[in-house]
Amino acid sequence: MKKCIKCGLPETYETIEFDDSGVCNICQQHHFKTESIDWVKRKTMLNDLVEEYRGKHDYDCLVPFSGGKDSTYTLYYLVKEFKLKPLVVQFNHGFMRPNLLKNNERTFKKLGVDVISFTPNWKVVKCLMREALIRKGDFCWHCHTGIFAYPMHLAIKFNIPLVFWGEPSSEYTAYYDYRDDEIEVVDESRFNRFVNLGITADDMRGMIDKDFDLDPRDLIPYSYPPLRDLKKLRYRSVCLGSFIPWDVKSQSQLIMDELGWKGDEVEGMPPDLYPYEKIECAMQGVRDYLKFLKRGYSRVTQMTAIDIRNGRIKKSEADELIREWEGKKPRSLELFLEFLDISESEFNDIVKRLVIPPYEPKFQTIQWGKKTSDFDLWYREDK
Ligand SMILES: [Zn+2]
Repeated sequence: MKKCIKCGLPETYETIEFDDSGVCNICQQHHFKTESIDWVKRKTMLNDLVEEYRGKHDYDCLVPFSGGKDSTYTLYYLVKEFKLKPLVVQFNHGFMRPNLLKNNERTFKKLGVDVISFTPNWKVVKCLMREALIRKGDFCWHCHTGIFAYPMHLAIKFNIPLVFWGEPSSEYTAYYDYRDDEIEVVDESRFNRFVNLGITADDMRGMIDKDFDLDPRDLIPYSYPPLRDLKKLRYRSVCLGSFIPWDVKSQSQLIMDELGWKGDEVEGMPPDLYPYEKIECAMQGVRDYLKFLKRGYSRVTQMTAIDIRNGRIKKSEADELIREWEGKKPRSLELFLEFLDISESEFNDIVKRLVIPPYEPKFQTIQWGKKTSDFDLWYREDK
């Protein structure tokens, strides 16, 4: 496969393009961010935005919260820097790990915030995972749509127009461009553009209706609220990272020091290097494994690419890590197959249809990865 000569991202990476010298568009975009954005001006814009909404409703803002490093930092920043009173909304995807739950409790108590946690019907979740896996090779539809749509329902219910998300998507892909000097808006068009994989809740209803006794209301948490309700609210839904430079490493360190937030090991990732990444979900290993089977790289490549751009590691060190960690079969796959009631060969058959050329997965040579230390505590269904 063709790879960026600077950061190593391969041609199967979403939205990637290469210039004549073999450097990718994401590397070029990064260069723009560090050189040309007027962060002082952006901070002033943030101050103005916050002051516009302060004290006018029951809450100053709503913060969708997963408990990962980005939403934890966002919440920390808004409470400490601006003394805002947020409503924290947590969409529980069903796979929260023990360490994450402890982190969350500590964060909420230390910051002193009101929290609403919502957990959707597990039977519906399993059904949605299965359908999204078969259709798109991406079982996280329920989680991504729920995380982005559900808080908007609560924003309407509680009449909270200002919604703060964490990192902007320009940090990872070129769907949105820092160059536009525009604030990335987290709205329905963004939702349809790359959150819901082109499948709306309505589509999903039609797809799963035949083999699942679905109540149409079961899918409300996954659908964007009606436009008229959002318009009435006159909402502003933005990423904090559009206003302040987003630096994952230093922010993670800060929440560790200030909130006692703890990282965790994640299947398929070097534990010492990225203990703060994607610790929210017990199925992360399966997600990364799927990406590897479809595209020939996984998150080690993605993370080291960011570090290379930031001058934190050498390309040769990254290559070494990728060789050691990438492409192992996660132990969580066993649980995943059990939840979805499919066999591994059925899983592989689904994946085969979705591989992005020129990559070709070699199923027969793949080895099992190690259990994480909390693996035996993860939810299992009785056989
Ligand atoms: Zn690159």
